[in-house]
Amino acid sequence: MSVSLRKKLILSYVFIAAVCVFLISVFANIFLESQFKKYIIENQEKKNQEIIGLIMRQYDEDSGWNEEVVQKIGINALENGLILKVRDASGRMIWNARAYNNGMCQQIIEHVSQNMFDRYPGWKGQYVENTYPVLIGLKHIGSVEVGFYGPFYYTDRDIAFLNTLNKIFMGVGIISVLTAVILGSFMARGLSRPISKVIKTSEMISDGNYSVRVDVRSNIDEIKQLTHTINNLAATLEKHEKLRKQLTQDIAHELRTPLTTLQGHMEAMIDGVWDPDEERLRSCHEEIVRISRLVGDIEKLTRYDTNNITLNKTCFDISQVIRGIMLNFQRDFMEKHIEFRYNGSEQIVEGDRDKISQVIINLISNALKYTGEGGKVSIILSRKENGVEIKIKDTGTGISEEDLPYIFERFYRADKSRNRLTGGAGIGLTITKSIVEAHGGSIRVNSKLGEGTEFTVILPIYRK
Ligand code: ADP
Repeated sequence: MSVSLRKKLILSYVFIAAVCVFLISVFANIFLESQFKKYIIENQEKKNQEIIGLIMRQYDEDSGWNEEVVQKIGINALENGLILKVRDASGRMIWNARAYNNGMCQQIIEHVSQNMFDRYPGWKGQYVENTYPVLIGLKHIGSVEVGFYGPFYYTDRDIAFLNTLNKIFMGVGIISVLTAVILGSFMARGLSRPISKVIKTSEMISDGNYSVRVDVRSNIDEIKQLTHTINNLAATLEKHEKLRKQLTQDIAHELRTPLTTLQGHMEAMIDGVWDPDEERLRSCHEEIVRISRLVGDIEKLTRYDTNNITLNKTCFDISQVIRGIMLNFQRDFMEKHIEFRYNGSEQIVEGDRDKISQVIINLISNALKYTGEGGKVSIILSRKENGVEIKIKDTGTGISEEDLPYIFERFYRADKSRNRLTGGAGIGLTITKSIVEAHGGSIRVNSKLGEGTEFTVILPIYRK
């Protein structure tokens, strides 16, 4: 069973609030009641003493007992749940609550016992009588018998006090639950809104709409990360989609030109417009070679691009490898009147010698391809903290800022028309990057259109 975030949050808030209020009221009740009981028991004795005091003060040395006042005290005590019997020194009854109004006495006792029974079901109380002597100085003037419902009892006022307390707790409980609902829905809004937006955007992305982005503001770290991740995902998919389209377009474009030429030549020969002489057949052959080369490039790409290039690692001096490759390129550079320089000393690296050679060949041949006559290409090898650095710098055409982020992508060529002349299919740098990264190295490019390009490769050094 699944529930919405909103429901779940509100329910948990309400649950927590309810549990808190419940526990607080239970503990408060237990504590308060035990204190209250203590207070009531202590008070009982005090009340009795007060009555004795009152009775004692009404006694006059000359006129003796003032029965009227004793009655007043007795009635007052009766109203408070105390049944008095006042006797003089000889034991004569001066005032007896039962004789005064037995019905009322009975009623009071029953009412009090009902109160106690309502509050504590199973309460075992009984009527008790305490007798106190009335003394003036050392003179015994009589005695008072105080009867009440024991061991202690609550008057209506006491019960009302306890009930009010519980009502306050109930009020606090209701307010807390309401606050929990409001707070919960507020929190849920803050969470579920951005999540719903992320869901909607993800659905649009999965439908192929890669240009959408999640636009939510939240101060919750995880939500921020989530929107950031989704936006990155969309951006990556958008980029890949663009490259995929470009790739298909490029392959189609690359294939179409030689195929159209071939088709035209063949049709002309079939129709008898052209003689199938050696020159024409050679031109057809050249186109076929071009197609084969492209297919070969595509194959090479899949081999290098699968992130699992197998490396045949050895330790070797990269400086020597660079110098060897430069020797092979020397003639091409001389023909184009390009100055070709090297600066570096022995540096031992650990890696696949052939594949690293491929990296250097790719970068040098690009520098050669994209540098005009009279330019300059220099290679600088140096040891850096994080590895061996190979810089290949040319004063060629440079790469525009909008092309720069894509040049390592397969089949990406900055200048599509020029490519046909230079013959590159835009996969050299893709392979170069794959090899460097498989070695745990990195490759960067710096370029300015019209000024030149500088590729920097970092390879991990050999550590004994
Ligand atoms: P290509 O076979 O087209 O040279 P690469 O993957 O080697 O393919 O290079 C991709 C694109 O990057 C090239 O088409 C070119 O536009 C650009 N590029 C690479 N190296 C250089 C360079 N040294 N100078 C200028 N542009 C370059």
